Amino acid sequence: MDTVWVFGDQLSVDIKSLAGRDPATTTVLLVESGATIGDRPWHRQRLHVVLAGMRRFAGELETAGFTVDLRPAPTFATGLRAHRERFSPDRVVAMEPMSWSGQTMLERLDVDIVGSNQFLCHRDDFAAWAAERDGRLRMEDFYRWQRQRLDVLMDGDAPEGGRWNYDDQNREPPPDGDPGWPEPVVDDLDDLDAAVLAGLPPSAVGADPTGIWPTDRAGALRRLERFIAHGLPRFGPHQDAMTESSWHLAHSLISPALNLGVLHPREVVDAAVDAYDRGEAPLASVEGFVRQIIGWREYVWGLYWLWMPGYRDVNELDADRPLPPMFVTGDTEMRCMSETLAGVEVHGYAHHIQRLMILSNFALIAGLDPQAFNAWMRERFVDAAEWVMLPNVLGMGLHADGGRMATKPYAASGAYIDRMSDHCAGCVYDRRARVGDNACPFTTLYWDFLARNEASLQGNGRMGRQLANLRRLSDIDDVRARAVEILGLAGDGSL
Ligand code: SF4
Repeated sequence: MDTVWVFGDQLSVDIKSLAGRDPATTTVLLVESGATIGDRPWHRQRLHVVLAGMRRFAGELETAGFTVDLRPAPTFATGLRAHRERFSPDRVVAMEPMSWSGQTMLERLDVDIVGSNQFLCHRDDFAAWAAERDGRLRMEDFYRWQRQRLDVLMDGDAPEGGRWNYDDQNREPPPDGDPGWPEPVVDDLDDLDAAVLAGLPPSAVGADPTGIWPTDRAGALRRLERFIAHGLPRFGPHQDAMTESSWHLAHSLISPALNLGVLHPREVVDAAVDAYDRGEAPLASVEGFVRQIIGWREYVWGLYWLWMPGYRDVNELDADRPLPPMFVTGDTEMRCMSETLAGVEVHGYAHHIQRLMILSNFALIAGLDPQAFNAWMRERFVDAAEWVMLPNVLGMGLHADGGRMATKPYAASGAYIDRMSDHCAGCVYDRRARVGDNACPFTTLYWDFLARNEASLQGNGRMGRQLANLRRLSDIDDVRARAVEILGLAGDGSL
């Protein structure tokens, strides 16, 4: 008798360690580790989606005839030890886990590890691709390689429609008024959900779930269908827009299900391409979505494994400022920040531009400690995982890796936020002002960031125009003095 140990982010019967197994000769182990659940201030919706997902998956496996040992335990290791004592399996098998610490734990605990099939590009294949590129690991190159080898949106050897990338059509600001963004699927919570919520530790933060995030495969498939039918056609043009009239716009909201393994990237991409083939979604939207799934998502996954374990400690800009209280309280007069932080509190979610150009942008230009900010991002998002957050936050968002991932810092002033959102009209700050009491903190800190890091950025060709603009500022001393005031106000919770 074998035991297959399944983790809370591997919730599929098709994972390589389970696929094709005979339920009569296989026991499935799922461990709810008290240390992991209680060791940080996780968002309640994050804990709920994982724990409810594990319990529903255990039920699906039992229905399929498996013996399931769903075991609360102080730690993963004690859970495995207790399972071995109770079931005496001939061997314990697990699929490659989703984290570096999970990998080292399995090796330490004498578990047989089989390769992962949860991504379309296995980490070894990514490493081989990277080895051929002499350090130039551009996402666009990886994406085109994925398109070709996976035969996604290809017309023979050429990209469908004659172009690889329709990014220039994916940057529209929010439209005037509410065009009727597709409403998310919402499920009623049941007794299983109530039991999960009743057992959450006191350290958990954030609002309780409202049924938006699926906790089983049927629910995940309903959300995928809703997105393909109603969101995808409008996803492309406004995927970077931010509006106070809708927290989700036309975003898919399937990232939690994807990151927990409930949905597989192949079926998600196939569904989008099928919609294009049926003439139900434009190429610019479908390509933009496909780029997120087989491009960015798999690129980030590959980089994580390529650069761990050292990557988690990078801090090339020597940023060391603690997180201001607004990241806990949500209280700030900065309209863009308060709206985004409220979305994180209520839904455990913000879309990719809110994450990059509001939250991470603020952390970058304010010089927040990258590891502290990354920890906050991991704890607060319903779809978070270390492999997602480290490259996206430390590399893309904070430039803490010195440009290994993103060739320039994604620093932006209030002008960008004003162009891509409707926040500034209702804000007490003036996005055009960089000095004075009503100066937009993003605008002031943007210039201060450039001035503070001018020496280390001036060798970067992509920063030439921004640094030239900096040198033209006649009031840079006043800007830097105001930046000190702003950081002080942020630090005492009154910005
Ligand atoms: Fe954000 Fe500045 Fe706009 Fe206010 S003015 S919403 S702080 S970008």
